[in-house]
Amino acid sequence: MDDSGFRYFYQTREGELEGDQIPEDYELEVVDPDLQGRFRCCHALIDREQPDSLQVVAILEQKLFHQRCYIPSGQPVPELVQINCRCDILNFTESLLRDERNANRSKFLIIVMFGPLTGCDDDAEIEIEEETETAEDTMDVEVGFVPASKSAIEDLENVSGLGCNDCVICLGNFATEKEAKRMPCGHVFHGGCIVRWQEKSHLCTLCRYAMPLDR
Ligand SMILES: [Zn+2]
Ligand SMILES: [Zn+2]
Repeated sequence: MDDSGFRYFYQTREGELEGDQIPEDYELEVVDPDLQGRFRCCHALIDREQPDSLQVVAILEQKLFHQRCYIPSGQPVPELVQINCRCDILNFTESLLRDERNANRSKFLIIVMFGPLTGCDDDAEIEIEEETETAEDTMDVEVGFVPASKSAIEDLENVSGLGCNDCVICLGNFATEKEAKRMPCGHVFHGGCIVRWQEKSHLCTLCRYAMPLDR
């Protein structure tokens, strides 16, 4: 459970692009047995000529979490939820670009739907994951975070000499901070960032690889 007691929903998908126009962002009330809440739908464009997925993440993050006119639950969105949402956007965007079926296309419209869930059971402390296999439809519902075991965190492999990539937890470059750590799944983050993350959640933010838990 996050600090505010709210549960959040987010979903990243591809939208229909008409010309080069990015649609207006909007809010949406959903009343469905499985999904209830008021959600914000934000859009961003990615161009294969300049495939900067992190920029897409930064744009959407700004729209979702840093607009004073829209604070979904009346409280700031917890950092953990923001990071998970950010990674979801990044994963989705990169899978669109990688997909061979999209090889002839130059521009993609990314839509994120985000907001606090209402009408849910407060006692639910378990982590619910509903992930479909297709890249088109990724859905995550975050309920609770379980930290990784101390020893597993200490055993994370140190890596150095990374030049190009960015750390998705802080969106910072590896060049600015020498210390990086690699998870068993192969994903690399700043040492400080991944330790802080694993002390809250044992899942890899990018692929959901599960680290061992304390018993
Ligand atoms: Zn970092
Ligand atoms: Zn991973």
